[in-house]
Amino acid sequence: MDIVLLGPPGAGKGTQAERLAEHLEIPHISTGDILRDAAARGTQWGQKAKPLMDAGKLVPDEVVVGIVADRLAEPDCQRGALLDGFPRTIAQAGALGELLAACGHAPPVVVSLAVPDEELMRRLSGRRSCPRCQLITHVDELPDASPAVCPRCGAGLERRDDDAPEAVRRRLDEYAEKTRPLIQYYGDAGLLQAIDGNGSVDSVAQRVAAAVGSARNARPG
Ligand code: ADP
Ligand code: ZN
Repeated sequence: MDIVLLGPPGAGKGTQAERLAEHLEIPHISTGDILRDAAARGTQWGQKAKPLMDAGKLVPDEVVVGIVADRLAEPDCQRGALLDGFPRTIAQAGALGELLAACGHAPPVVVSLAVPDEELMRRLSGRRSCPRCQLITHVDELPDASPAVCPRCGAGLERRDDDAPEAVRRRLDEYAEKTRPLIQYYGDAGLLQAIDGNGSVDSVAQRVAAAVGSARNARPG
């Protein structure tokens, strides 16, 4: 079974995806992580994607579809995969449908996480990550000490370039214009499981797992 996690920036897709992929024992594919890694390594795609990502804009469909096609062709995706941050446009959703059909997979189960805009702004503008142990945290959860250090390993915390306020606004606009229409698209196709993304990580994880379980039971075979 292939799963798509859909939701605005800051909805908690990455956190939930990690848990769900572990629970289902399928690979977690984050196009954002793959693009950030390519940018950090300075590959040709990475160099093209970096300025767009930093400004909060989407990377062109051809680039991300190419990345996902390559990744889904790897043997560990045969039993299914968890896609986090893809598709983000109707064109990408069409491409994903074709990729899955071409390898004999059913259409994806789409889990959409809904979180109010004010909460998204709060989460993203205060988000910090640790460059050493990858912990993701929020300034509201840290002691007032500045500069902020990682509570787990003590390294200095960093803010993602695209978590700067103007970039956050741009990402929310891009989401509203290009990605939100996927909720209707997948709803019309009967593939959507809509989840309330408010509350603790654990409570949202339980809702997500329950939605995936019921979608699985509802499927033939
Ligand atoms: P978030 O969901 O918090 O916005 P991601 O890590 O998923 O963050 O993505 C970060 C950035 O990577 C996006 O703002 C965009 O520039 C780029 N990106 C990731 N996935 C896609 C995609 N499927 N299509 C286009 N751009 C993408
Ligand atoms: Zn750390």
